[in-house]
Amino acid sequence: VQAESLEDRCQVSPYACQRRTPLAHKNQVLTEALETMAEEARFCGSEGRSLAFSRAASVLKSLPWTVRGVKELHFLPCIGEHSRKIIQEVLEDGTSTEVENVRQSERYQTMKHFMKIFGVGVKTASQWYQEGLRTINDLQAHHAKLGKAQQAGLLHYRDLNSPVKRSEAEAIVQVVQKAVDQFLPGASVTLTGGFRRGKPSGHDVDLLITHPVEGQEVGLLSKVISWLDSQDFLLYHSTHRNASQALEDQELSVSMTAMDRLDHCFSIFCLNYPHGSIKGGSRAWEPGYELKDPGDATLWKAVRVDLVVAPYSQFPFALLGWTGSRNFERDLRRFSKHEKKMVLNSHTLYHTEKKIFLSAASEEEIFQHLGLEFMPPEERNA
Ligand code: ATP
Ligand code: MN
Ligand code: MN
Repeated sequence: VQAESLEDRCQVSPYACQRRTPLAHKNQVLTEALETMAEEARFCGSEGRSLAFSRAASVLKSLPWTVRGVKELHFLPCIGEHSRKIIQEVLEDGTSTEVENVRQSERYQTMKHFMKIFGVGVKTASQWYQEGLRTINDLQAHHAKLGKAQQAGLLHYRDLNSPVKRSEAEAIVQVVQKAVDQFLPGASVTLTGGFRRGKPSGHDVDLLITHPVEGQEVGLLSKVISWLDSQDFLLYHSTHRNASQALEDQELSVSMTAMDRLDHCFSIFCLNYPHGSIKGGSRAWEPGYELKDPGDATLWKAVRVDLVVAPYSQFPFALLGWTGSRNFERDLRRFSKHEKKMVLNSHTLYHTEKKIFLSAASEEEIFQHLGLEFMPPEERNA
């Protein structure tokens, strides 16, 4: 393998939005180690430490070569002392004792287990851990203390932790499009999130709805949800008016108080399998779904779905904001703020010195406003 020139290596940007990051990359073993450390830090409530490991992993994901020695790290941004130590250990021994200790620790394993429940975050998981709870069975005995989302999460634990395939995501797009068409013909449903970045599977399905006539979309989400519910397509749903405030992430939640907020809904869909196919079997989902038969659990699967509705003028911002990855989004906002004195969110781009909103008809125009080279979704896997 040809080593890159020194000059090429110096060109790695500290901002993920200036790096091309395809889905498949050449430093898997290293990034997995760093991401375990990032996760562990998050479990401890150390957001800053978590971000540092996460950034280091993200830089390695963007490299078109495999890192073979610590010397190469001197050319790279965002690799802190601790990350460097972990990388060095893995390069020398094939594995890092520190990372292995984390992976084997009871606290890490329990936290990971609990946080796979929909509706459970770091706070709840660590509280349960401190109360001595360790397994899903322990939680079931604890049932009274679970919120609505968590109860649904527990009920559908297995389904929600089995990856959603692209074919399943596409089936959900069809169901939602059918619902939307009834109330607002001409409205579009766009698959965003990881699937738009080219991932073959994901933890949920992210959908963005809009209509070319601004204002027509008002009230659409609640009608769509009511219809889906009446047709037994929903196992759980929770509708909100402010997408960005729901985020625990500080940098991502930069938003303007007077702005319109996007309607969104976190839900669990009941996806039906066509007659004769068996859930979890080798046959992929095919169009031809019918309403669920609650008596036969092998014929349907619970799938997490995020529905977002954007006014047409905000659509490019919403599309950019909901396509991710999270690292990419965080750095887009950080770049806007620190390099351009602009505030970017899922609705708008605001120039803080000129005090004007910059409109955009496409994602490309947003990148132009920011003076950034356009990054196609497949290269936003930071
Ligand atoms: P996966 O395949 O695991 O679902 P993903 O990249 O699609 O991966 P999501 O958690 O579904 O991950 O998030 C997709 C994008 O939507 C993120 O990049 C994030 O910016 C945005 N997003 C998610 N939740 C919110 C929220 N509550 N408010 C605003 N934006 C959000
Ligand atoms: Mn997603
Ligand atoms: Mn999502």
